[in-house]
Amino acid sequence: MLQLYIPLNFLGFVYREIKHSLADMEKMFDLLKLQPEIKDKASAETLATQTASVAFTNVDFHYDSKRPILDKIEFAIPAGHTVAVVGTSGAGKSTLARLLYRFYDVTNGEIQVNGKDIRSLSQESLRKHIGIVPQDTVLFNDSIYYNIAYGRPDATESEVIEAAKAAHIHEFVLSLPDGYQTTVGERGLKLSGGEKQRVAIARTILKNPPILILDEATSALDTRTEQAIQQELRQITTNRTTLIIAHRLSTIIHADEILVMDHGKIIERGNHQQLLSSQGVYARMWALQQENKNTDLS
Ligand code: ADP
Ligand code: MG
Repeated sequence: MLQLYIPLNFLGFVYREIKHSLADMEKMFDLLKLQPEIKDKASAETLATQTASVAFTNVDFHYDSKRPILDKIEFAIPAGHTVAVVGTSGAGKSTLARLLYRFYDVTNGEIQVNGKDIRSLSQESLRKHIGIVPQDTVLFNDSIYYNIAYGRPDATESEVIEAAKAAHIHEFVLSLPDGYQTTVGERGLKLSGGEKQRVAIARTILKNPPILILDEATSALDTRTEQAIQQELRQITTNRTTLIIAHRLSTIIHADEILVMDHGKIIERGNHQQLLSSQGVYARMWALQQENKNTDLS
């Protein structure tokens, strides 16, 4: 009993940790062979579309009924548009991403893709349409080729290389001792935060999904790497329905709509100019980040 109890408990821990960080959700179920909490309906439809709109209608959510997390969240992302979410840590930003990926079901309200309640769709087909560049990319202890190709395991070698080039990581890979066959991950070559993020971007480019979720890294990348990554991200978000969780406001000034969240509520919304004009929380965050930037540069 004891022997069985410990490993199961440990798996539960790993499962929650991975789930919490949004890291590599797609592989998690395969790896740990755990039963997902959310089950498909017997009548679940298969989502099959090249373009997708997303809508959150009156969404409430709690992980634990004693503690509400989201309160009447309402926003829409027309196909090909970008909505950005900013706000304090713990406000519920990453929870929006977890709900859209359907790691959990909403407590109240509804999330729709192309007008369909995501609870009426098969999870597999929903997730095929969503690409995630998480805050913290987990690499498998396998070749860098495998780690990129994982975005679409049936991709050809030239497609994998194209994706690596588009994510500006091809040259780097060629400089590794065994090129694309170099083992990376905890037991192989450890990559920097920026390099891991590029692997995640290459995966996503390869997956080519109509819906994109970017949970921006908070880790301090050097300015040049950050600018290069921003450029890559801007390229892959073009014409895709994008939900971007941003820590640096400079990265989202072009978003069609920006939601400012605090304690599970949307407290301000509008585009960058509108939010600056209204001189509220967003305008103060912007001023603060501009000041910090100036100090950094001096
Ligand atoms: P943000 O991304 O805005 O920093 P999150 O959406 O990750 O915030 O979390 C919102 C709140 O939900 C936080 O208070 C967090 O502690 C809590 N939370 C996140 N994941 C879980 C979970 N799996 N179980 C219980 N509470 C959670
Ligand atoms: Mg978060």
